[in-house]
Amino acid sequence: MEMIILGCAGSAGVPMLGGPDGAGDWGECDPGEPRNRRTRSSVIIDDGPGRRLLVDTGPDLRDQLLAQRIGTVDAVVYTHAHADHIAGLDELRTINRIIGGPLPVYGTVEVMDEISVRFDYAFRPWTPPRIFRPVLDVHHVALPSTRTMAGMTVQLFAQRHGRTETLGLRAGPMAYCTDVAELDDTALETLRGVDTWVIGCFQREVHPSHGWVAQVLRWRDIIQPRRTVLTHMGPDMDWGWMQANLPDGVEAAYDGLRLHA
Ligand SMILES: [Zn+2]
Ligand SMILES: [Zn+2]
Repeated sequence: MEMIILGCAGSAGVPMLGGPDGAGDWGECDPGEPRNRRTRSSVIIDDGPGRRLLVDTGPDLRDQLLAQRIGTVDAVVYTHAHADHIAGLDELRTINRIIGGPLPVYGTVEVMDEISVRFDYAFRPWTPPRIFRPVLDVHHVALPSTRTMAGMTVQLFAQRHGRTETLGLRAGPMAYCTDVAELDDTALETLRGVDTWVIGCFQREVHPSHGWVAQVLRWRDIIQPRRTVLTHMGPDMDWGWMQANLPDGVEAAYDGLRLHA
C-alpha cells in the first residue's frame, strides 16, 4: 500500500500570501529549502488498480494531481468541510469525464450537507451525454464505522477539531489524521500499532484546534507507530528545524512524499 502526500500545508499554504515584496510570507521557514514549499493538505491511498482513494479536494488539487501524474481516482472521502479541504471539488468534473459516470464520495451527513450548500451543482443527477460539472455519488458514513471505499477496508473515527469534528481514517497499515486537537479513546485504540501514521501538526506551540509538536509526541507514545509523518504544517514548521529536533521515527512530510507499508 502506498500513501502519496499531495500537500502538507495548513490552510494558508507555505508561503502564505504577503511578505515584504509580495513574493510570499515564509514565517520561520527557510525559503531556500524546497521541502518548505507546501500546498494544502491532501493524500491519496493507493492499493493497486481500481483502489485509489483521494482524501479531500483542497484548492491546489489540480496542480497536485498533475505533479504526481495521477489522472484519476476511484473514490473520495472528506475529512471535513473547511475550505482548505474542499475548495478544489470542481476539479472532480474532469475525473467524472474520464470514468464516464458519477464519482463515489464518502463523508458524514453533516459534512456532505455543508458541501452540498457550497457546491450544489455537483449533487444533481448524472445526465449524459453533455456534462460539464462534477457529479458525486454520495455515500454517508457514521463515526466510528468500517467501510469499503475504492475496494479497501477503511476504519473511520471522529476527531475533535476546535468547535467542529473531523473524520480520521485507517486503511490497514496506514492512517491519516488531519485537523485534530483531541483524539479520544476510540480513535487511539483504532490507531494503536499502525505502521505509518500521518498526523496533522500545525505548529510548535499549543493550538486550540490543531495538533502541535508535544501533543503529537504524546499520542505517538500511546499509538506506537513505526513511522510518524507530520502534515498540515504551518509557517513556523521549518524543515531544517524539524530534521534537527524531531526524535527518531518522526519526520516532516513534504509535497510529493510517497510512503509505503
Ligand atoms: Zn485544514
Ligand atoms: Zn480544518
